Amino acid sequence: MGTESSVQVFCPDYQRLLKESQIALTIWNNGRAAIHSAGHRGRDADNTLRILQGNFARAWAALQRHDQYCEVCQRVSISEGRSFPGRSLAPAVRCLNA
Ligand SMILES: [Zn+2]
Repeated sequence: MGTESSVQVFCPDYQRLLKESQIALTIWNNGRAAIHSAGHRGRDADNTLRILQGNFARAWAALQRHDQYCEVCQRVSISEGRSFPGRSLAPAVRCLNA
């Protein structure tokens, strides 16, 4: 538990949203890997990946919204000088925008 930041302790909503984003990202990555390794191509594979990507995008957007409007997280943000809380997910988000 030593790696958990104080943000997660202060704000259970943030913790939940971050976890949902991470789970959605993991499912998306696993789905992509499974489709690639199985050699699936075509519309079904595309649709599946689009759904998984959409799930992650929704979870990520909710996390961003929370970070903007949650007073608890903003207080912690100021006192800790942190930037965006979901930094560990940023590479995946760049992938979304690509
Ligand atoms: Zn919060």
